[in-house]
Amino acid sequence: MGIKAVVPIPHDRLEALLGWFDLHARDLPWRRTKDPYAIWVSEIMLQQTQVKTVIPFWLRWMKTFPTIAALAEAEPAEVLKLWQGLGYYSRARNLQKGAQLILATFDGRFPDRLEEMLSLPGVGRYTAGAIGSIAFNHPLPIVDGNIVRVITRFLGITQPAKSASVQKKLWQVATELSASAPLQRHGDFNQALMELGATVCTPRQPICAHCPWKSSCRASNKVGVDKIPNLEPTVKPTHRWFVAAVIQQENRWLVRQRPEDEVNGGFWELPVWEIDSQSIGPARLAQELGSHIRWDLRGTVKHTITRYRMTVDFYAPQILNGKEVDRLHRSIPAGRWVSDAELSTLPLVNSHSKALRQNLWHKPLED
Ligand code: SF4
Repeated sequence: MGIKAVVPIPHDRLEALLGWFDLHARDLPWRRTKDPYAIWVSEIMLQQTQVKTVIPFWLRWMKTFPTIAALAEAEPAEVLKLWQGLGYYSRARNLQKGAQLILATFDGRFPDRLEEMLSLPGVGRYTAGAIGSIAFNHPLPIVDGNIVRVITRFLGITQPAKSASVQKKLWQVATELSASAPLQRHGDFNQALMELGATVCTPRQPICAHCPWKSSCRASNKVGVDKIPNLEPTVKPTHRWFVAAVIQQENRWLVRQRPEDEVNGGFWELPVWEIDSQSIGPARLAQELGSHIRWDLRGTVKHTITRYRMTVDFYAPQILNGKEVDRLHRSIPAGRWVSDAELSTLPLVNSHSKALRQNLWHKPLED
């Protein structure tokens, strides 16, 4: 069955939603400003990350890099370090590249035209719509996961939400909604839609009794909220295994920096290798670093990035003499010894940073 034409949402429902937002909007730090730079940072951080996680990161970021110029001129390592813990580091790199582009191309002023915003690295239709509407009050549509849920439920769209036809319709509806925002409060209206999805029209057990759209909502009144949105089965996760070597000498560790053109480029890590299965970790260490060394498993860190489930086993060598330590150092291209103090200034790959926090880098205490 084809998708019906766009159903206009009655104006009194739009007013009701905005009135609800005025009363119930969460007090989030980036909602206290109209600075497009600050809103840009919040939108990038909020991609794939929950609000409560983002708040302290956003506050620290804005304190350290309060302006576009401060970010553009910062050391890349400092930028990555501040992002550490949020994951998806290309977002941080794109923010800095974007800040540099704004200085070079737009005279340091955040652009307010849609096509100019879209020229910034990492800024797509959603982010440009969010910044354009929230910071500049332009009537620009946005469609994120929350808005998908609210609109598909309200209109009773049962077709797969990720299909091209439903996506097209959602952008059409969002465009109409943003343009029809009461009192021309375009940014507030977009935020109201997202807020409704985040706090009331939640994925499981939406609180329809508190929803300003309840009286006209097809999912709530007819189809059933558990049937919409229709989310296609997600791609099966892929498991990947790694083995890392914790080589330590007098409170210094042998680490290396990842090449810029690889995933997590510029980040630091212990020497690590991808393996076909978890059981062959010691054999791989023997192959890479010499078969005469015996390795003890310090612990395991599990880590998820998009559809990858990663398992990293951290092994430390049993007693090594000075000669063996030197030989190991020579086996690790670009390996460098770093102390505790230096380590705290280096941006670390997430799983290795987790291992450090779990004390897997340190020798267990003697009995
Ligand atoms: S009535 Fe329920 S399902 Fe419909 S939009 Fe509101 S919260 Fe969502």
